[in-house]
Amino acid sequence: MNTNSKVPELFGSMVFNESVMKDRLPKDIFRALKKTIREGTALDPAVANVVASAMKDWALSKGATHFTHWFQPMTGVPAEKHDSFISPNDDGTVIMEFSGKELIKGEPDASSFPSGGLRATFEARGYTAWDPTSYAFVKDGTLYIPTAFCSYTGEILDKKTPLLRSMDAISKQACRVLRLFGKECKRVTTTVGPEQEYFLINEDDYKQREDLILTGRTLFGALPPKGQEMDDHYFGSIRPRVAAFMAELDRELWKLGILAKTKHNEVAPCQHELAPIFSTTNIATDHNQLMMEMMKRIAKKHGFVCLLHEKPFDGVNGSGKHNNWSISTDTGENLLEPGKTPASNKQFLLFLTAVVKAVDEYQDLLRVSVASAGNDHRLGANEAPPAIVSMFVGDEIEAILEAIEAGETYTDVDKTMMSIGVSVLPPIPKDTTDRNRTSPFAFTGNKFEFRMPGSTFNIACTNIMLNTAVAEELRQFADELETSKDFDSALAALIQREIKAHKRIIFNGNGYGAEWPEEAAKRGLLNLKSTPDAIPYYTSDKNVSLFKRHGVYTKVEMESRGEILAEEYAKTLHIEAMTMLDMLKKQIVPAVISCSKELADTVAVKKSIGVDAPAELDLVKALTGRTAELLAHQKALEDAVNAAPASTQESPRYYHDVVIPAMEGARKTADALEMMVGEKYWPFPTYSKILYYV
Ligand code: ADP
Ligand code: MG
Repeated sequence: MNTNSKVPELFGSMVFNESVMKDRLPKDIFRALKKTIREGTALDPAVANVVASAMKDWALSKGATHFTHWFQPMTGVPAEKHDSFISPNDDGTVIMEFSGKELIKGEPDASSFPSGGLRATFEARGYTAWDPTSYAFVKDGTLYIPTAFCSYTGEILDKKTPLLRSMDAISKQACRVLRLFGKECKRVTTTVGPEQEYFLINEDDYKQREDLILTGRTLFGALPPKGQEMDDHYFGSIRPRVAAFMAELDRELWKLGILAKTKHNEVAPCQHELAPIFSTTNIATDHNQLMMEMMKRIAKKHGFVCLLHEKPFDGVNGSGKHNNWSISTDTGENLLEPGKTPASNKQFLLFLTAVVKAVDEYQDLLRVSVASAGNDHRLGANEAPPAIVSMFVGDEIEAILEAIEAGETYTDVDKTMMSIGVSVLPPIPKDTTDRNRTSPFAFTGNKFEFRMPGSTFNIACTNIMLNTAVAEELRQFADELETSKDFDSALAALIQREIKAHKRIIFNGNGYGAEWPEEAAKRGLLNLKSTPDAIPYYTSDKNVSLFKRHGVYTKVEMESRGEILAEEYAKTLHIEAMTMLDMLKKQIVPAVISCSKELADTVAVKKSIGVDAPAELDLVKALTGRTAELLAHQKALEDAVNAAPASTQESPRYYHDVVIPAMEGARKTADALEMMVGEKYWPFPTYSKILYYV
């Protein structure tokens, strides 16, 4: 690898960012473009032509031959169609061209993207529109233009558009609230730093497992003799091969202008994490998608496969994506920064109250935003936050909120200094929020960390919910306070009233404890354990009216998203069940039979020479019994899948209640058989081999 001193030059070298624009665009064009970006106004076609031409010249200098409108359809996985810049001359030669029209608008055939019934396939036309707030970049010889995607009739078909709308909504309401505190600001943005967890396994092992290839997770596999009980992987030293992968990944991400910052080993063997420095939410979303793609691609170069599934291995920790979220003004003020004296920081307390109220009133939406077949394995298991949405605010904030609720005054305490008891080390100020790893939604000093999203998720959805819900609370607060006669007393009364009404959502205790679900039920909090439990909440009247009011989604758009979620869930489980059946029939059953045949032969041969073989005989009998059991499970699973209803109204519940237990039954017996037959018979790599490679 090159020297580190080159990093600043490397950083953003493949991005058409502001500094490149400034260099390559005429002054007036640059100014016009910046105005568009800042104020979200429409781009003048004349300006677009000049920008397109400069962008093309820059892209050619980076080796690009093609361009693509890069968008995030409702599946969440980015889509791209590449067009070359070539344009024919009369004399049989070509020139490289790119017009403003091509930059601003694209028309991909929309018919093959899921629309959740929004658009019949014959109405295939879809449009992509450039999002100038997210920079274009060059990757693999193509100029990528981040875009939004909508249908001919204007319904949005992607995740980007509603995200941008939700950011507008919260900006508008937060600016109103700030005005009450005497602050004029044009734009408030939400910021996100998504911490990405992933597994790296050997490509050779991966290739031998149909389940990993087709479903991203292992559907069979007995637990290895060693799990994660020794706690020796978390923050452990990074293996050289993995370190080489991480180093190359960092550099590739830096080239794309992605602020890759922290990397470490995670709790489970083979599990790692990469966190970027936070950025504006839509950019963080684009970057997270790119990050996941680069992880997969660079892993291959190092002989690894990167698994992003929420639960690649049963009995081993799964992977999440912590969504660190905050709100800040265009002057750089973080609105969730409590400062030294939070109790007297009324503006902070008001924004905090808005988040508390939003999370309580829209806990269902937050839960839906992280629902999937993959994430169901995590939420509520003893590793990820429970399926109950609650908030952790830390002792100091909790004490302040309690005082407010009781109408008492709270005196801010000086930050205590923590002495480490070693004289050469300086005392360090103690954080007022200790870490609570079990809370789904934790205040971590000047931001909230939402820990429920799964590792494969597109973070747009969660942030759409969060931004819009908080926008709604801020709207209500602004409405009330703008008309109050005495601002200070109205503000104090409002905070007190809302904390009283919504404090049930605050829980600083152990979210993994067995008492918590009981306590949560007493508080009336939802415990939506699975995706089918969560889906109906998507389109409840309360939630539809929230999104309608803030212009984020129409009712039809929400229904289509609910439909896609249901369909994806059922399809995922269908594929998993079919893959299991395939592996059972083609691999596991034949392997077990060949092992018992060899044993039976041994028994027969021994018998023919007059030697008893009771041990082998017992083994054959046991294997034969288990095999019969396995075949019965196989049949039950097949019957269950065949009887699955087609309608998305019924199928999620059916797959959850009927197919999953059938899959679990088959797995249990197959895993028991894995422990009974010799290694040479087992048709694919075991957990021990995959998780403890060298
Ligand atoms: P930890 O959660 O381990 O304490 P950090 O506090 O460094 O780690 O932050 C974790 C993530 O939160 C990083 O991606 C970081 O950039 C992001 N983050 C920090 N401040 C903010 C903020 N104001 N808004 C959004 N994300 C933030
Ligand atoms: Mg964190």
